Amino acid sequence: MAGLYFHIPFCRRRCTYCDFYFVTNRALIERFLDALEAEVHARADLFCDETISTIYFGGGTPSMLSAKQLDHILSLVQKKFRLDSDLELTLEANPEDLTESLLQDYAHVGINRLSIGTQAFSDEKLKWLSRKHTAAESIVSVERAHRWFKNISIDLIFGTAGETLSDWQRELELAVSLSPEHISAYSLTVEPFTPLSKLIARGKCMRPNDSLQTEMFLLAMEFLESHGFEHYEVSNYARPNFRSRHNSSYWQRIPYVGFGPSAHSFFRQAGNEIRSANQRSLNRYLENPTDAHDLREVLSDLDRFNETVLLSLRQREGLSLELLAKNFNFATSHFETLNQTVADFERDGLLTTEHETIKLTRSGFTLADTIASELFITEHQQHSGAACAS
Ligand code: SF4
Repeated sequence: MAGLYFHIPFCRRRCTYCDFYFVTNRALIERFLDALEAEVHARADLFCDETISTIYFGGGTPSMLSAKQLDHILSLVQKKFRLDSDLELTLEANPEDLTESLLQDYAHVGINRLSIGTQAFSDEKLKWLSRKHTAAESIVSVERAHRWFKNISIDLIFGTAGETLSDWQRELELAVSLSPEHISAYSLTVEPFTPLSKLIARGKCMRPNDSLQTEMFLLAMEFLESHGFEHYEVSNYARPNFRSRHNSSYWQRIPYVGFGPSAHSFFRQAGNEIRSANQRSLNRYLENPTDAHDLREVLSDLDRFNETVLLSLRQREGLSLELLAKNFNFATSHFETLNQTVADFERDGLLTTEHETIKLTRSGFTLADTIASELFITEHQQHSGAACAS
């Protein structure tokens, strides 16, 4: 089982908080599609023994592509890969693009999961985020999409300047009333070098309030779970049987290959686990799409251990200490330290342990990455404790 990711690096304009890679020059779309085709031809052998169970078009703004352009990519994918009969095929779309006819065309070329970048249902908040669409377009796009898709996800952002807990509650109520199968709710983070970080540095914009964001996160978990959504990963909520299979495969360390500028891949080759990333610049990608790698890293045993801790803890199913002990042959002292740290977090109400599996509590989810990093083994500890992997 494996997945394919296509990064479509075009947007109409920059949202101030965004640090994804994209360009605004639409004139390059056709050249990009030719380059993408060349990259697929060059890398298809990587998964010749795998069945592809998920395909994801992310961005950027994939809904800037026509159904015909997507169909062209998908026809090539069909020729080059073995596809699962129950393929999940997701496209990220911006609300302002979703006309009735585009939705119909997307459904006809085989897209069966639509992830709509609604982000908010208030004009004021959308303006603050410098999104192009309005609250009315957020709502209409989801209502319209229901006529063509049975699996719809919407994105929400919380914690913008001036947003109150009751504003956020109203957004959640509206989101649920639109009956999506899946909701991704992200706290606003200020990424370095984004226009937002510069505005904050110049005092033109308020920094998000950490403690209010924590309260908003807790409210989202409580509210969405009480409305039939399963909180299955830090930022993701799904109706039963509607988890994102593609994104879940990232957290479960299932191989995937990413095409397009800045796309990442994870695969196994000759007994190694490898993570790679493509060139970030579209121009450089266009020059040499068949060899677009900018970075290729063979994971060490320590990397694999720490990734397993981080990615498992982010999920509702949690981290099996039994599997860790089975798959990584560490010195006893490492497990003693780890068990002690787990006990400390458990006492603070951030973790629970059941049948040797540790799971984050709601409070724990608000600190997921910090907790995971406390359970990591550092290189220094590895050398002093003689850790090794099976
Ligand atoms: S539309 Fe999405 S990818 Fe494009 S700038 Fe806005 S947040 Fe970033």
